[in-house]
Amino acid sequence: SAIDIKKVLSQLGVKDEVNQGASTGKNWMATGDVIDSFTPVDGSKIGQVKLASVKDYNKVVETATKGFHEWRQWTAPARGEVVRQLGNALREYKEPLGALVSYEMGKSYQEGLGEVQEMIDICDFAVGLSRQLYGLTIASERPGHRMYEQYHPLGVVGVISAFNFPVAVWSWNTALAWVCGDACIWKPSEKTPLTSIACQNIAQEVFAANDVPEGVSSMVIGDAEIGKALANDKKIALVSATGSIPMGRSVAEAVAKRLGKSLLELGGNNAMIITPDADLKIVVPGAVFGAVGTAGQRCTSTRRLIIHDSIYDKVMKIIVDAYGQIKIGNPLDENNHVGPVIDKDSVNNYLNAIEKAKEEGGKVLVEGGVLEGEGYESGCYVKPAIIEVENHYDIVQNETFAPILYVMKYSGDVTNAIELQNGVVQGLSSAIMTTNLREAEQFLSGQGSDCGIANVNIGTSGAEIGGAFGGEKETGGGRESGSDAWKVYMRRQTNTINYTTELPLAQGIKFDL
Ligand code: NAD
Repeated sequence: SAIDIKKVLSQLGVKDEVNQGASTGKNWMATGDVIDSFTPVDGSKIGQVKLASVKDYNKVVETATKGFHEWRQWTAPARGEVVRQLGNALREYKEPLGALVSYEMGKSYQEGLGEVQEMIDICDFAVGLSRQLYGLTIASERPGHRMYEQYHPLGVVGVISAFNFPVAVWSWNTALAWVCGDACIWKPSEKTPLTSIACQNIAQEVFAANDVPEGVSSMVIGDAEIGKALANDKKIALVSATGSIPMGRSVAEAVAKRLGKSLLELGGNNAMIITPDADLKIVVPGAVFGAVGTAGQRCTSTRRLIIHDSIYDKVMKIIVDAYGQIKIGNPLDENNHVGPVIDKDSVNNYLNAIEKAKEEGGKVLVEGGVLEGEGYESGCYVKPAIIEVENHYDIVQNETFAPILYVMKYSGDVTNAIELQNGVVQGLSSAIMTTNLREAEQFLSGQGSDCGIANVNIGTSGAEIGGAFGGEKETGGGRESGSDAWKVYMRRQTNTINYTTELPLAQGIKFDL
């Protein structure tokens, strides 16, 4: 369960003292304040980072822009070859990087490794994509004309990421953006700065060996101020932002003001519907993993269970019993199911949410609380709680990024359950547990779940590379990673070519000179 953190840091080229927080590849700089990175695992300090100032940011954008002008001239398959090598480098660094993700962020070692595996998977996906950046050929209404579309590199892409997936979200964006011919500037979460330095080192190793232009992989570690500088900067062609809804609203406003392009991946309020035809064998692990995995700090964590009243007591008894089996502790110890939340602010948000739910009339089925004593010195370990509520409670309508599961009953038809599931402002992930074909198909239909992700007989959390990832409504509408998500990282151009000696006009318009 113990990791040799000094060894892990040195394998990844991260210092256990002050690291510089801005980089364009070979060049590292930083003139901002120095911050500490503490692990929520045991509360100790892992290292320090000198943050990027706005001045550093401006230098980085300049280099990234120059880098883009060169990089876009590389062929897409040549860019894909660099990403292929990046995937291989991540295979080599999977264990130390997974361990650092686990230690700095607090998720289990298995999930830390899983996050790095996701990075490898998106690199593989992107390599294939580098030979498939297809446009359409379109039938022209004018004789002797050919019409087609092509996708060109877009520019400098800003990637703002959240603490809970400190490395995967970066690669979801960059692996695609790089094959598309863009340069990327990463603004990681200031809560997980060391994992981002490790990623930049790995990318740099591969990029330097391939003479990729300086600036194509850039990074600025800073707080919201740097994020805002990026959002307001018209030199950033696309701002891809992952985080809370208030953050997304701020980014969206700034980018819209300059008529720029944004891709938003914001909070969720994910529900699982459990119908009388559900197979309880898979309901219980699906619901419990969804609610307590990553200590409830996934954007796709299960926040609400919507259970048919005819099976409610039976299902809740099994789930409450299962909660009794949960082991909370050091996430690097594989016997534990639940690790810490990210920091003390998060602990307070959790405690306040439980209080608020009680004030609004919620009935606690599994008590929460902060753990103390040996192994819990960081003060960031909390007990997963279950509260019976009504969907309209203010606290239920908002995402609390902690292991609190709200449960509620529905009666009658599955239509009523779907209405409750859709009755929140967020629209990220959703699930129905049923063996009834009619219910499942209704849930997936146009009148069904209004979320970007809708699952049948699996939980709300955990997505694969390959499918487009993202959500509707206040989740922001962005799609990343799979399917045709690459198109947002490119600009589309429609080309019409006339190979005749005439100049017929579209719509048959006559214009005689
Ligand atoms: P957060 O919103 O506090 O911060 C996210 C990032 O945005 C950080 O890098 C932060 O420095 C930056 N930031 C904050 N305010 C900003 C502003 N006004 N302008 C520009 N940048 C700003 O989120 P967090 O606590 O790190 O992460 C948890 C949240 O992220 C949850 O709401 C979760 O649901 C969401 N999330 C969503 C997805 C998704 O794909 N939909 C994935 C992971 C996390």
